[in-house]
Amino acid sequence: MGYKPIILERGRAVRQRTKDTFGFWRQRRLDPESNVQFGEGGAGTFSDGKLYSQISDPRHLGRKVLEEFVRAGAPEEILYVAKPHIGTYRLVSMVESMRETVESLGGEYRFGCRVDDIEIVDGQVRGVVLADGAVIRTDHVVLAVGHSARDTFEMLHRRGVYMEPKPFSIGARIEHPQSIIDAARFGPQAGHPLLGAADYKLVHHCSNGRTVYSFCMCPGGTVVAAASEPGRVVTNGMSQYSRNERNANAAIVVGITPADFPDSSVLAGVALQRHWEERAYVAGGATYDAPGQLVGDFLARRPSTQVRGALPSYTPAVHLTEIDACLPDYALAAMREALPAFDRKIPGFAMDDAILTAVETRTSSPVRITRGEDGQSLNTRGLYPAGEGAGYAGGILSAGVDGIRAAEWVALAFGPA
Ligand SMILES: Cc1cc2nc3c(=O)[nH]c(=O)nc-3n(C[C@H](O)[C@H](O)[C@H](O)COP(=O)(O)OP(=O)(O)OC[C@H]3O[C@@H](n4cnc5c(N)ncnc54)[C@H](O)[C@@H]3O)c2cc1C
Repeated sequence: MGYKPIILERGRAVRQRTKDTFGFWRQRRLDPESNVQFGEGGAGTFSDGKLYSQISDPRHLGRKVLEEFVRAGAPEEILYVAKPHIGTYRLVSMVESMRETVESLGGEYRFGCRVDDIEIVDGQVRGVVLADGAVIRTDHVVLAVGHSARDTFEMLHRRGVYMEPKPFSIGARIEHPQSIIDAARFGPQAGHPLLGAADYKLVHHCSNGRTVYSFCMCPGGTVVAAASEPGRVVTNGMSQYSRNERNANAAIVVGITPADFPDSSVLAGVALQRHWEERAYVAGGATYDAPGQLVGDFLARRPSTQVRGALPSYTPAVHLTEIDACLPDYALAAMREALPAFDRKIPGFAMDDAILTAVETRTSSPVRITRGEDGQSLNTRGLYPAGEGAGYAGGILSAGVDGIRAAEWVALAFGPA
């Protein structure tokens, strides 16, 4: 449309970010500004790159997102297969290609540019302040900071931007040998090259009123260290396009609401996430190893001492112990009820040797930065909260769709370039 947006990204360009992230996974060197959550490409860059969503999309904006991805180098099959995915390595080069397109159209990227403050005068955005003190004057800011920008949420709260706490889910990653999942899903055809690695989606409604479900299932993938803050451990999952690693992994998570948060403040969900991530860090030995426990031991309430069967894939390493210290009692009770129920759907799911790695806390944003019909913050004109951090997306595709909507709202308010 002829606009020349400036993209302010706290993290580094994707190649450098990849090195920083591997530095954490291999050498425990966490860079709080360049990691699985932060840097060019956002949270989905080191992922399975699953591209399906349950959002209502009457204008088929998801199709536009997929077409842009194909232009950037995604396999064409994502336009027609039922559950498209891209895998980590391809995502990295696609992110670079999309940057080149944006730049060729007049956009500008600034890496290592963290927005630390926002200037609001009489309820209207007038500019942003960067970490180095530089000020950029503007009346239009699209705020798409993701679910892990806790310092940014704190700043917005201090500035009085309207936000509310919102539900999310917590739990742990589970890993099985992929062959167990393939056998349960494909029967005698398991292992057939045309079928590839099987996936699953499970839900169980517990007697304590909680719902437990599988989330972000990664067939033939690995569990990844997804921390962005020192002294905290968080898990997530990723795969390559081939999905041919030995294990299947998924988060097994329990839905929680603001009623479970420690208090009624807007950022209480962030406090809850931090609390359990710190407990996981300590339980893992305070080295960024993640605490892990075999499913048989978890169900029998005894610590694990030795892996058998599925080798955990999380790096730097999994520290075998008990994960009870890393999650609230209601979540543990719900998971203990759900695992045998899941085993009835996928025989072997609650096998003794499957591994739980804790803790999974960043399933979605703990806040909503509420916006009105015009896409602007309820009380701050010119601020367009968008994507997952604002509570309006839950994955790569839905965040892309929301990005299109945000761009349209800015264009409507801004007028012709
Ligand atoms: C390991 C992993 C695997 C995943 N797998 C999948 C999957 O297979 N499929 C799927 O659909 N979803 C997956 N997700 C979720 C998906 O990545 C997110 O839903 C999606 O990236 C949200 O997009 P977003 O643009 O809203 O936010 P993000 O992608 O989080 O982007 C926010 C960006 O803002 C930057 N930022 C934050 N604060 C500031 C600031 N103050 N100043 C400047 N820049 C800032 C961050 O560095 C980041 O680049 C996965 C997530 C992770 C972590």
